[in-house]
Amino acid sequence: MKLFSCAYCGNVLYFENIRCEKCGHALGYLPDANRLLPLQADGDAWRALAAGGAVDERYGTLRRCANAAHDACNWLVPMAEASAYCQSCRHNRVVPDLTIPANLQDWRRVQIAKNRLFYSLLRLDLPHPERPKDGTAGLCFDVLADPPSGGGAHIMTGHDNGLITLALSEADDVERQRRQQAMGEPYRTLLGHMRHEIGHYYWDVLVRDGGRLDQCRDLFGDDREDYGTALQRYYADGPAPDWQTRLVSAYASAHPWEDFAETFGHYLHITDTLEMGRAFGVSLQPQLRTPDAAALTAKIDFDPFRAENFTEIIEAWLPLTFVANNLNRCMGESDLYPFVLSQPVVEKLAFIHDLVSKGGAPDAELPQAPVEVSGQMTDGDSTQAQREADTAALLA
Ligand SMILES: [Zn+2]
Ligand SMILES: [Zn+2]
Ligand SMILES: [Zn+2]
Repeated sequence: MKLFSCAYCGNVLYFENIRCEKCGHALGYLPDANRLLPLQADGDAWRALAAGGAVDERYGTLRRCANAAHDACNWLVPMAEASAYCQSCRHNRVVPDLTIPANLQDWRRVQIAKNRLFYSLLRLDLPHPERPKDGTAGLCFDVLADPPSGGGAHIMTGHDNGLITLALSEADDVERQRRQQAMGEPYRTLLGHMRHEIGHYYWDVLVRDGGRLDQCRDLFGDDREDYGTALQRYYADGPAPDWQTRLVSAYASAHPWEDFAETFGHYLHITDTLEMGRAFGVSLQPQLRTPDAAALTAKIDFDPFRAENFTEIIEAWLPLTFVANNLNRCMGESDLYPFVLSQPVVEKLAFIHDLVSKGGAPDAELPQAPVEVSGQMTDGDSTQAQREADTAALLA
């Protein structure tokens, strides 16, 4: 994600803003331009403004995404497009009953996460075909509220052939944190769910249908292992004991598909967060006179969504996470990025970089050389073992 600025008054703007605090103009996000535009009403439509208040003709006539009526989307749609919904919301298939105030409040949080997901997908130029009404192909989202207590099973978040189901209850902070603790997870967010589930979708599109199955199996394992049995085993016996040496999370040990989805989600965490580092001109130079401190220097002056190779990304990412984690510790908060990326995980991330950089085109070439990270860098005393102990203490 990047910073935006108001073309009318120069004020710094953030992705979810709907009004410029400085000049008071309504704002809308136009994905094709990747701009948050100051707007002026033009009958039923909107026009973008330039500095001085002239209409900026480049953007044509625009309307708001229909979900603006629920205060649930600030994206714009060119008048020439038929859909009433924006490029993100036209993938919404089922939304919860919005006449229930709690549902509306939770769904708005889901919308924020989904629009941030789509920001990344659009920046990476990843395919996101719409699913026609009553169709079975294409990408769509069902956001479902749990049935009233005693009225049936909880909604399970998951992916099935392009349909992403998200339990609305995950938007409730108390409920999500309860689940996070019960599962012993170091990280659980709506955006994390979105990025994980879309990973399953892109396994279908870019790996299975993209001619990359053999390479993927070499790195992530054989996905022909029965999925249902594997999940049952995971929930009965817990994660593989050696997961920390080869997987990004404990849950990734449940099945190769889960490993891929977890790792794909991390790739989106990394590129999106790095872009914000770049937007702020983050440059790191630890004030320590030791050669090891050199590994912690970084200058985030490249577009992570267009990076040539994954080495560039990971060399900036690790130092950024160490800074962020240590800043959080100074505030008595838990780590922003509570993960350790082992060498096998870095190689999997490099594979995903290769996959998304090619937009899924079949490729017979060998994967790029493994990415070397000099030494096993860690961000201090919060090792995986410590995190495990912390989690165990929390659950005790
Ligand atoms: Zn402004
Ligand atoms: Zn929308
Ligand atoms: Zn999954």
